[in-house]
Amino acid sequence: MRDAILVLNAGSSTIKLALYAVPQQGDAKLLCKGLLDAHSAAPHLIIHDTSGAVLFDHRPDQAGHHELIAALLDWTDEFLQGGRLIATGHRIVHGGRRFVSPVRIDADVLQALDALTPLAPLHQPRGLAPIRAIGALRPQLAQVACFDTAFHSDLAPPVSRFAIPRRFEAEGLRRYGFHGLSYQFIAGQLARQSPPLTGKRSVVAHLGNGASLCAMRNGRSIDTTMGLTALDGLVMGTRCGNLDPGVVLTLQRLHRFGPDEVERLLYYESGLLGVSEISADVRTLLASDDPRAKEAIDLFVYRAGAGVAAMAHAMAGLDVLVFTAGIGENSAEIRARIVAELGWLGVRIDDQANAAGRRRISTEASAVTVLVLKTDEEAVIVEGCRKLFG
Ligand code: AMP
Repeated sequence: MRDAILVLNAGSSTIKLALYAVPQQGDAKLLCKGLLDAHSAAPHLIIHDTSGAVLFDHRPDQAGHHELIAALLDWTDEFLQGGRLIATGHRIVHGGRRFVSPVRIDADVLQALDALTPLAPLHQPRGLAPIRAIGALRPQLAQVACFDTAFHSDLAPPVSRFAIPRRFEAEGLRRYGFHGLSYQFIAGQLARQSPPLTGKRSVVAHLGNGASLCAMRNGRSIDTTMGLTALDGLVMGTRCGNLDPGVVLTLQRLHRFGPDEVERLLYYESGLLGVSEISADVRTLLASDDPRAKEAIDLFVYRAGAGVAAMAHAMAGLDVLVFTAGIGENSAEIRARIVAELGWLGVRIDDQANAAGRRRISTEASAVTVLVLKTDEEAVIVEGCRKLFG
């Protein structure tokens, strides 16, 4: 009989899932991966094995989130053939000041996480929804939350501080940082694959639909581009990234925007989508000959380059640059353009190695080692669960 842990990684629209066998000793073993999409016009749950072969393709005519989660749990029981699902692990975007390591979820924890929703309105409800559904369907099943903010929990002033009246800091208004599960995975990869690089001054560029940078040394976060919320920093698919706060005041005054309208504008209608008026997807924009698509990409690249330079400042230099996540792992063109912005820092890449998406894409002469590493947030979550259960 084998024990297993089911990991749910809720993004802003879909939920990635992964099922792991967890032996008493040794590494967790990935059994299958999948995607649960309850919000598109055609809700579906699809699961495939490690070679990509489809194991389960469930497309009910009408199904909400709860029904798809129920179908997932039933399928998991059947798949494990008498094995035992010992826990579910969840990616939770905001842990606030209280949650800085994985935690077993109970009613008190759930309430505290719910209270952080205003700080991550796009993600927090999506992360908590499967926890509630599983709690209702399998109240005895252990559930664990792992936090995107946790990797940055050591950040201290001046890095963590906003220049607003001090009293608000006591209320939790400070810079937290996000994408921590991804950064933790990359830190682990560097330590495992290239121990000499872990002590170097590294910037990790997590460039996906959400995008941020982390200045990292010895597996710890030194600075990062996101702040109190996941809006700050780089230009993203639909999020604005850093913005003069006066823009918000002006929108409120000129257009009589209330908080909900500002929230919708900055989280869902801005970024690549807002500037291009075409798409939030880099693939679509790169394939387009519309000048607005080019302008959106130009802004994304410019701000990413500026962000890397700011992260390098936090470490007084730059030795390693790592690209990861959907855009960072897959788009040679975006990597090349960001690196071109950083030519003045002595960063050089080999065009062939970059086009082939090799692990190391910098030239021998480059002052900075440039790597492309695949991230795996689910692997970090399963390890978080295992630590909690000893
Ligand atoms: P993630 O949030 O990490 O899953 O990344 C999703 C984003 O990665 C998509 O919205 C695309 O913009 C981008 N992406 C994925 N594959 C490619 C590719 N081959 N070229 C450019 N961008 C890509």
